[in-house]
Amino acid sequence: MSVDWKNWAGNITFEAARVHRPESVEQVQEIVSAAEQVRVLGSGHSFNRIADTTADLVSVAGLPAEVRVDAERGTVSVAGGVRYGELAAQLDAAGYALHNLGSLPHISIAGAVATGTHGSGAGLGNLATAIAGLQLVTADGELVELRRDDPDFAGAVVALGALGVVVRVELDISPTYQVRQTVYEDLPRARVDAHWAELATSAYSVSLFTDWSGDTVNQVWLKRLDDGEAAPAELFGARPADGPRHPISGVSPVNCTEQGDVPGPWHTRLPHFRLEFTPSSGEELQSEFFVARQDAVAAFAAVERVRHLVTPVLQISEVRVVAADDLWLSPHYRRDSVALHFTWVPDTEAVLPAVAALEAELAPFGARPHWGKVFHTAPDYERMGDFRALAARLDPQGKFRNAFVRRHLFGE
Ligand SMILES: Cc1cc2nc3c(=O)[nH]c(=O)nc-3n(C[C@H](O)[C@H](O)[C@H](O)COP(=O)(O)OP(=O)(O)OC[C@H]3O[C@@H](n4cnc5c(N)ncnc54)[C@H](O)[C@@H]3O)c2cc1C
Repeated sequence: MSVDWKNWAGNITFEAARVHRPESVEQVQEIVSAAEQVRVLGSGHSFNRIADTTADLVSVAGLPAEVRVDAERGTVSVAGGVRYGELAAQLDAAGYALHNLGSLPHISIAGAVATGTHGSGAGLGNLATAIAGLQLVTADGELVELRRDDPDFAGAVVALGALGVVVRVELDISPTYQVRQTVYEDLPRARVDAHWAELATSAYSVSLFTDWSGDTVNQVWLKRLDDGEAAPAELFGARPADGPRHPISGVSPVNCTEQGDVPGPWHTRLPHFRLEFTPSSGEELQSEFFVARQDAVAAFAAVERVRHLVTPVLQISEVRVVAADDLWLSPHYRRDSVALHFTWVPDTEAVLPAVAALEAELAPFGARPHWGKVFHTAPDYERMGDFRALAARLDPQGKFRNAFVRRHLFGE
């Protein structure tokens, strides 16, 4: 009998025959050894069938969190199923911080890392780049530990759950820091093209929100490290908003993190949305494509060429920047990237033609999709051959492969 479990967006009903919620690593090992086919579920915030299976689905949310700071090594170790928001509050209370967070703190660490989830910041790698080590239960039930200096490590961090169950992660930490968030409105569109390089690097984290229509970009969210200085009174022609804002015009900002240039701990400013509220619009699908940061202006023009298809099914778009990394399946592999994100209306049939049009327009830039969002095809990754060899070693029977993984990673 299949379970009636859905993802956060409600567009995917999981087809798993059985769902397990182990409470110890030993239980994970037993479940995996006994299973013929198995997938891992994080917090279910992906918008496609990446986590799904028709066989055994394992949620790691029940493993003991056990947050352990190693001040000498500059890392924290924690269970993979813990949500960023929970870890961040504990880290900050102990005087520590992570380098960045995604737009929402609700997602599990192992699930976010497995898809290369990112925030924004020209100098900031995606969230997976903070991983210094991980422990995973592989197909035969063995507990394997990989650290950054291991030759397999770069293949195992962004791995779409295809190598095993990540039960523990170790992340780099720094002393805690304060951030000021200011929302600017009505950035003249022409100034974005003219000043893209300066705009993208104008703060620790920069996000542009636009609906791709009109002569202005709706909002710019600047997250600055607090140096005691007030936010600039103008940003390439955009002015600070006169009160709190939600990225989607007309939606109450009550679920958004504090704005108005008020300093506050990193984890209360880097996400756009508060842990205790529903993030984003709550009724939506999402897609995202990454191209090289230096191609951003040409990529904006490419999106605008298909805006007649995009805008009618769009709630809002977000443009962010992500630093290059060395993780084989990371969408930011060896490429400083611009992220073109689309929050769609919650209607798959209506949205797919716009996704296809974007993929066609962005193909010349070698666009890579976000693994956890709505897309049709992913390009071949330079290190795909190495990843397949690693998967063949750790999971020779393909126990962790579902239809999504077979299609996008193994070309089946
Ligand atoms: C409102 C909203 C806002 C978002 N904002 C952002 C954003 O700012 N930036 C961004 O990049 N993305 C964003 N996303 C996408 C989201 O971060 C990714 O889909 C992320 O992977 C979700 O994490 P999860 O724990 O829910 O993973 P799931 O969706 O549960 O799983 C994703 C993948 O991770 C694997 N996995 C999960 N747990 C484990 C584990 N313990 N071991 C091995 N593999 C595992 C699963 O098998 C699957 O392949 C957003 C999504 C939503 C709903």
